[in-house]
Amino acid sequence: MKHCFVENIPQKSKLEDDVLYISLKYNVAIHKCACGCGNEVITPFHKRKGWILSYDGKNVSLSPSIGNWNLPCNSHYLIEDGDVIFIGGKQKKKKKRFRWFRLFGK
Ligand SMILES: [Zn+2]
Repeated sequence: MKHCFVENIPQKSKLEDDVLYISLKYNVAIHKCACGCGNEVITPFHKRKGWILSYDGKNVSLSPSIGNWNLPCNSHYLIEDGDVIFIGGKQKKKKKRFRWFRLFGK
């Protein structure tokens, strides 16, 4: 994922895929959902109630992870050093639990 420092937040129709728009003026970042569904994801910067942006001069990271539970895609990912790292969804966790049951159940 690329990043772009902007003064004003671009309109939804002007957002490009795979770009994190960062506005220090409004303390917010905005990007199109990394799963490709096209929905915009807004991440306000705040020490406790929002996200923390780190910038190493080349790449950006956001923490904590971004969980789009309010979007139909339910995607969950991290933006770390400019990379998008998807985190397993709820279904994967269920499968794992089932395996444990099979191993130790009987
Ligand atoms: Zn999505």
